[in-house]
Amino acid sequence: MRICIIGGGLTGLAAAHMLAGEHEIHLFEKMPYLGGCLSSYNVNGYWIERYYHHCFSGDNHLFALMRELGIHESLEWRTGTTGYYSGGTVYPLNTPAEIIRYPELSLLGKARLGLLTLTAKKTDLAALDDIPAERYIIDHLGDNVYTSFFEPLLKSKFGDRRKEVSAAWLFSRIAIRSDRGVSGERLGYLNGGFQRLIDSLEKSIEKNGGIIGKGTPVTSLTRTGEKWAVNHTTYDAVLSTIPPQVLQKAGGPAIPPIPYQGAACVTLAIDRDVTHGIYWLNMKDRAPYGAVVSHTNFIPRERYGEHIIYLASYFSGNLPANADRVMIDDFCTRFSVAPAEIRWHRVAVDPFAGPVYTTGYKSLIPSYEQQGLYMAGMFSRTNYPERSMEGSVRAGREAAACISGGNIHG
Ligand SMILES: Cc1cc2nc3c(=O)[nH]c(=O)nc-3n(C[C@H](O)[C@H](O)[C@H](O)COP(=O)(O)OP(=O)(O)OC[C@H]3O[C@@H](n4cnc5c(N)ncnc54)[C@H](O)[C@@H]3O)c2cc1C
Repeated sequence: MRICIIGGGLTGLAAAHMLAGEHEIHLFEKMPYLGGCLSSYNVNGYWIERYYHHCFSGDNHLFALMRELGIHESLEWRTGTTGYYSGGTVYPLNTPAEIIRYPELSLLGKARLGLLTLTAKKTDLAALDDIPAERYIIDHLGDNVYTSFFEPLLKSKFGDRRKEVSAAWLFSRIAIRSDRGVSGERLGYLNGGFQRLIDSLEKSIEKNGGIIGKGTPVTSLTRTGEKWAVNHTTYDAVLSTIPPQVLQKAGGPAIPPIPYQGAACVTLAIDRDVTHGIYWLNMKDRAPYGAVVSHTNFIPRERYGEHIIYLASYFSGNLPANADRVMIDDFCTRFSVAPAEIRWHRVAVDPFAGPVYTTGYKSLIPSYEQQGLYMAGMFSRTNYPERSMEGSVRAGREAAACISGGNIHG
């Protein structure tokens, strides 16, 4: 079959990798580089992700793909530490002693939080899809646990839309993030960066005869009989991995829109650590970013020769003007960094950086086949109720199986 794949992110590449060789693959990516949300910058001779990334111990489809590509040996496991920034102070929150010392949470709040963490994995998520996370936490654990612990976390992931997020998202997040040791969370990273995964996929697809068009946006979709034409060329099958509402604008099927949010992420390098050795610092204080992610408190700084820090923020609608300047200025003031200390910085903005898992989201998830066209990506059921590399690899592989005549819930 002649198959068109729209989008060169992880979903599109995983699908193309599976289908190439047996089928004629044409993949179109609008950007001049591959990887989408998992793409990287090349700075000073090393690769660093545009958006902070790590993987989790249960990411079995991702690991299987890495094994197929022969890069699994480069997967390394490290400790990712967490902290909260509150009242101008950095509080590490990893060991039981640090949690007991955290002054923002009452003793009762800490006990309730501990209990919730222990039971999260056994909770029925479907029953929580219609309940707002905020209401659930306030009703079951109290105001103090919400404002001192969960609100900063929700803010770091959903910005101003945090009140719409369902308890199903919150519980799934607690469940996947409970692989903890005594000093922090066990998280994975590919030595050399996740760019190695993207490069290996590109090589494998091309080796098997697939054609990858970078800098080639899909702007037109039309249906003729049973088949779809992409940019005026007709294919036997089309798999789109871009947001359904974006596809619809080009002529794709009309389905209910998925609630999406944008991400704006500043990556910068300085000479020193400013988050007290913490990898992921949630901002409880009001700031123009929800988290400060110090990549080099997770992966050794020696690999890069400098400290790499992300300022992470999410937005809905339009990104405020000069958002990057506002973020950098705030970071410099708050963490006592002189602007001249910043060796370089880059800004990544993606208006469709991930779904907002609002209450009732589950009913919006589209099946892989819609009016004779295949759709898979961050909006697929494998990415519910949290989008991830694992969910996108699975979505790509399951949609590819549907196209090849497999029987995975078309
Ligand atoms: C800030 C951030 C942090 C993250 N951190 C983690 C993490 O730590 N761990 C984890 O597991 N996951 C993480 N993720 C999620 C993970 O990156 C995604 O689930 C995955 O990369 C999504 O891949 P995708 O192919 O489904 O979508 P995308 O990466 O969005 O790919 C879609 C592709 O389609 C292209 N495209 C769009 N329109 C067109 C068009 N008209 N024509 C052609 N091409 C088009 C886009 O340019 C893009 O390359 C993070 C995501 C973000 C945004």
